[in-house]
Amino acid sequence: MTDLAHLRADFPILDSGVHFLDSSASSQKPAPVLEAMDRFARTSYANVHRGAYRLSLAATDAYEAARRRVADFIGAANPSEVVFTRGTTTSLNMVAFGWGIENLLPGDRILTTVMEHHANLVPWQMVAKRTGAVLDHVPLTDDCRLDMRVLGEKMVPGVRIVAVSGMSNVLGTIPDVPAISSLAHAVGARVVVDAAQLVPHAGVDVSTLGSDFVAFSSHKMLGPTGIGVLWGRMEALEEMEPFEGGGEMISDVTLHDATWAPIPHRFEAGTPPIIEAVGLHAAIDYLDSVGMDKIYAHDQELTAVALERLSDVPGLVLHGPAGIEARGGVVSMTMEGTHAHDLATILDEGDVAVRSGHHCAKPLMRELGVTATARASFYLYNTEDDIDALVAGLRRAGEIFGVR
Ligand code: PLP
Repeated sequence: MTDLAHLRADFPILDSGVHFLDSSASSQKPAPVLEAMDRFARTSYANVHRGAYRLSLAATDAYEAARRRVADFIGAANPSEVVFTRGTTTSLNMVAFGWGIENLLPGDRILTTVMEHHANLVPWQMVAKRTGAVLDHVPLTDDCRLDMRVLGEKMVPGVRIVAVSGMSNVLGTIPDVPAISSLAHAVGARVVVDAAQLVPHAGVDVSTLGSDFVAFSSHKMLGPTGIGVLWGRMEALEEMEPFEGGGEMISDVTLHDATWAPIPHRFEAGTPPIIEAVGLHAAIDYLDSVGMDKIYAHDQELTAVALERLSDVPGLVLHGPAGIEARGGVVSMTMEGTHAHDLATILDEGDVAVRSGHHCAKPLMRELGVTATARASFYLYNTEDDIDALVAGLRRAGEIFGVR
């Protein structure tokens, strides 16, 4: 087992004794992130790209240093390809409305999958309605993996954009994005990856991923809420219109018209999340100091242990690929005759925090034939103790509900 237990002391919230198994919803924050934000707010804060005074210039340097740090972390050679947003949802809406409305014509095809989070589905439904483009979905195999055979069949000329999750927040499934990108590019389509789960748990290297856009959120990768990233290949960003207008995104404005600032600033209207950028920078430093390969291995090992121990719990059904290869640290489950919210409530009595509900993936719930699941998700600070507490809590729930 990749032993990361020593770093639990960096996460003040874990002192409460909670078995925190909901990092896929939002991760906990280590002290270096909290301290970096606090220090910056106390000593160096001002608005950015607006002041001629030294404090503002220094804040601008810190904000742009965060952009360079993100670029370096995801393997982007050009920091201008990194756009700061409010989070994955905003990043994906930016592509849907900024790229989709601008480039899609009636009859063009948008190809997505049945396992998408609503953030990578609903914007495309809205854009399909506005443009007359046709929305199509790739199904899953019986083993909850993306059906690459059907994906290949659906990847025909006329597909203009492929919107795919880099890692399912319900199943943990990690599709082969490089292969999907090659197929998409062969028919002239752009590829946008919802990497809200992929970046925090496996990391990405955009120089080999093959996609054109990558969206992710800081709060799921040890950083603060309120900031996220849209990375775009420069020529793809150039095909995009700004989704929001306002301060600092213009080159010139007259009473009737405006021209845009260079990329990325044209996509960052208004005061950006400044303190949050400093926090994201510190979060990336922390993740890098541990190593994304170790974090992924740790998540996978915990997933293997969880799948094995949970398979003995009476009445429990596990949803997701049977093996752990190309699978992240997420385990979704249902228990016969028991609602997922009841499971979560009983688990909470034993200080085990899991998410329950449809996980913003209602179409996927329908595919799985359930209305809700309980979901345990693992991150670098989790240990086998957390899994034991989960298993004990589920056994207790089974006894309470008379499941055998
Ligand atoms: N996509 C996936 C796969 C997610 O898991 C989430 C959050 O749970 C999102 C998108 C939306 O992220 P945010 O709420 O940070 O915008």
